[in-house]
Amino acid sequence: MPAQPGGNVSQQSALSFNNTQIAFQDKSVKELKTSYRIFKIISNPFLSRTGQKLVKWAVRVGLPVTSVIRSTVFKQFCGGEDIAGCEPAIARLANGGVGTILDYSVEGSQDEQSFSRTADEIIRIIKRAQHDERIPLAVFKISGIGRFELLKKVSAGESLTAAERAEWTKLNGRVSMICAAAEHAGVPVMIDAEESWIQPAIDKLATEMMKRFNRDKAVVYNTYQLYLRHKEESLKADIETARHSGYILGAKLVRGAYMEKERARATELGYPSPVYPDKDDTDNAYNKSLQYCIENLQQVALVAGTHNEENCMLLTRLMDLQRINKQHPHVYFAQLLGMADHISFNLAHAGYRVAKYMPYGPVKAVLPYLFRRAEENTSVTGHAKRELSLLSAELKRRKH
Ligand SMILES: Cc1cc2nc3c(=O)[nH]c(=O)nc-3n(C[C@H](O)[C@H](O)[C@H](O)COP(=O)(O)OP(=O)(O)OC[C@H]3O[C@@H](n4cnc5c(N)ncnc54)[C@H](O)[C@@H]3O)c2cc1C
Repeated sequence: MPAQPGGNVSQQSALSFNNTQIAFQDKSVKELKTSYRIFKIISNPFLSRTGQKLVKWAVRVGLPVTSVIRSTVFKQFCGGEDIAGCEPAIARLANGGVGTILDYSVEGSQDEQSFSRTADEIIRIIKRAQHDERIPLAVFKISGIGRFELLKKVSAGESLTAAERAEWTKLNGRVSMICAAAEHAGVPVMIDAEESWIQPAIDKLATEMMKRFNRDKAVVYNTYQLYLRHKEESLKADIETARHSGYILGAKLVRGAYMEKERARATELGYPSPVYPDKDDTDNAYNKSLQYCIENLQQVALVAGTHNEENCMLLTRLMDLQRINKQHPHVYFAQLLGMADHISFNLAHAGYRVAKYMPYGPVKAVLPYLFRRAEENTSVTGHAKRELSLLSAELKRRKH
């Protein structure tokens, strides 16, 4: 029988994601109640969608809603409005042995000036992380520093105009600069995966960077979305390429965040969806990929980006079986701030290396990110129900 939520620390020496005392160690009763209310609202499709519409409308007509958002959903899912503002949140995670991955979540306009500014901000993150063990990794999105349509054209193998070739060269320069800064600071940097129609360009850039910077250790990580039918095979092929070419493959494994968009585009343009038809297929691909990485840990540095309890448990078992040290530099567990604390803090407490994405940016600028978190938790596979049961177990435990 699985242990019940709310178990006592001293009673549970083995790893359990039900230990709410460890999971919510950094939260006051007031904060637990706020989190409970937030998950209650976003788990209800009607309230969640109405709330999103209301916020969008209020922002459009200029109503002063930022302070309400700042003290509720923003506080739940974001670290602060700028790097310095994230300090308290970084310290709180660090108290529980969990690292921070600062994630500049502002979706800027599609012009060169804004791409340059974003690249500068990512370099500031890397410099901030240097010499601070609490910030072990950095992350960025290629679409934040390069034009989406350009990435699409490169991905489709279309020929570029002279102006586009110059743009592509500039983008390569920005990516190089970020990865060189990561190498210099000793802070590995992950490149997020995005829509499948721009991913080949992202993979191309990430592979070039890994060849350059990952000779001795993993400085650059690419991301594998295991909901894509071909990804398990490309992960295997990339590990072999890395072996033959003499570099370490950095691989963040995720399921994938663009399922509906992928399916809608495939239907609209009349091609087979690249996403598996069933969740089970995605789960299988994820499990097998974890196993493959663990069996090839000399060649691959792994970040398991997931809120799936079975996956995290499986990864600990695989490490156990292969007698891999919990602090092995090639294994990280990663979750998002404000979600799955029961996984992050319990793993860290058990001695594993864990870090959380900490999105930040001005409140209004991170609204699209917050809406996506709300959508994700509202969906059928959403984890809001689990969050609610853990939060209420901890509230009950504290009453006694
Ligand atoms: C640290 C971290 C980094 C991340 N980075 C990225 C990134 O770079 N790019 C990116 O795209 N996403 C990224 N994500 C999001 C991730 O892809 C998932 O959307 C999210 O984590 C939910 O999946 P899960 O593994 O946590 O758990 P689960 O709840 O077990 O899985 C939900 C996921 O399963 C898949 N799924 C659901 N239903 C079906 C179905 N019917 N058929 C096939 N597949 C299905 C979908 O991918 C869905 O998101 C990241 C997540 C984390 C925690």
